[in-house]
Amino acid sequence: MYHDIYPARLPEPFKSYRLLSKAGVRGFPGIDSAQALLLSCLQDPPLPLAEPILDLTAHAGLSALTLSATPLLVERSASAIQVLTAQHLQHLVAIPSQLEGQFATLLAVLPADKGNDTIEELLQAAYRLCAPQGVVYLAGDKDKGFDRYFKWAKQQFGEGEILERHKGYRVAAVVKNKPDPRPNHPATLSFSQYPFQNRGTTLQIASLAGVFSRKGIDLASQLLLEHLPTQLQGSQVLDIGAGAGVLGAWAAAQGAHVTLLEDDLGGVLSCQETLRLNGLNGTVLHSDVGSALPPEARFDLVLSNPPFHVGSDLILDIAEAFIALAAQHLKRGGDFYLVANQFLPYEGLLASWAEVRTIARNKSFKVLHARKR
Ligand code: SAH
Repeated sequence: MYHDIYPARLPEPFKSYRLLSKAGVRGFPGIDSAQALLLSCLQDPPLPLAEPILDLTAHAGLSALTLSATPLLVERSASAIQVLTAQHLQHLVAIPSQLEGQFATLLAVLPADKGNDTIEELLQAAYRLCAPQGVVYLAGDKDKGFDRYFKWAKQQFGEGEILERHKGYRVAAVVKNKPDPRPNHPATLSFSQYPFQNRGTTLQIASLAGVFSRKGIDLASQLLLEHLPTQLQGSQVLDIGAGAGVLGAWAAAQGAHVTLLEDDLGGVLSCQETLRLNGLNGTVLHSDVGSALPPEARFDLVLSNPPFHVGSDLILDIAEAFIALAAQHLKRGGDFYLVANQFLPYEGLLASWAEVRTIARNKSFKVLHARKR
C-alpha cells in the first residue's frame, strides 16, 4: 500500500543496516544512487568529519546510520519526513535557504530532476551555512550537469576535488577557503512570480525554486481550469498535489473554501505566498498525499494534476494514491476533476467508484470528470 513503511533495499556496503523507507521517498524501494555513493565514500574507509555536520538532503536518513558522528538532518518532503519520524531520527523540516547556522561539514545530493535554479539555490545555501575552512560533500549525476555544478562550487568555495566516480555518479568535496563576500547574511526565500488568467480571473502565482511550473502555468493545469465549473461559491474544494497553488487559488478566487495538499515544503510555502498575494484564504497542509488531512474531512470538489513519470512505476503509485484519496474524501455525488497525459490509464481506477467522462482533450492531455456514486 502507498502509505506503508518498509525496510529499504540497501546496496553494498550498507547491507547490514536497517533503514526504513516508503513510496514517494527518493530512491524507494532502494536508496538514491548518488546518496549511496556519497555515504559509501565517507564511510569506506571512514573519513574523519569535523562537527557539527549538516545533511541538507536527508531522504530516508541513511547518513544518520552510517556516519561516525551524528549529522543534523534536513528534509523538505513530507513522505521522507514520515520515514525519519518513524525511525526517531532527529530532523529539521526546512528548505535549505531557510536555515541559519555555521557547520563544519555539509552533505548535499544534487536533485537531478528539479532544475538548475533548485541546485543553484542548494549550493548557495550550502555556501552560506558552511563555516570558514568547512567542507561540503556533493554527490550527483554526471549526465545531469554534475561537472558544471562542481566547477561552479569550486569557484565559489575556493578549492575542490572529485573524490569518486562510479557509473554515472560523482562525489566531490569543496572547501570554503575563500572569504565570504557576505558573511552572516540572513536566510531569505526568493519567490519568483508570474500572472495567469483564466475565464475572467487574474492571479499572481508565487513560486520557490524546485516547485512545479515555476516559470508559468503548466499547459495541462491550464486545460483543467478551462473546463472547471465556475459556480464554486461556498463549496469545499481540495487540491491534491498543489505545487504553487494554481488550482486551489483559482477555486478560492471563485469563492470556494479551499484545502491544498503538497508534499514538498517549497510548494507549501509557495501556496501560502500565492494565497497571500491574491488576498485569498485557504488551508495549506504539508502532506504526503492525505497524511495531514483529517480523516473526516469531506469535499464537494477535488482537483488534481497528478505527478507521473514515463517508465517509473513509483510516480504512477502517487497518482493512484491521489485518486484513492479523492474517492475517500469526496461527498457522495461530489466531483473529481483530473488532468493527465493522454496515455495514462486512470479511467479504470476511477470507474470503480465513480461515473467517469472525458470532458476535454487536446493533442497531449485529457481532462477526466469523475462523479462519486
Ligand atoms: N497543482 C499544481 C502542481 C501539479 S504537479 C499545478 O497544477 O501546477 C504535481 C504536484 O504533486 C507537485 O507539486 C508535487 O510536488 C506534488 N506531489 C508529488 N508527490 C506528492 C505526494 N506524495 N503528496 C502530495 N503532493 C505530492
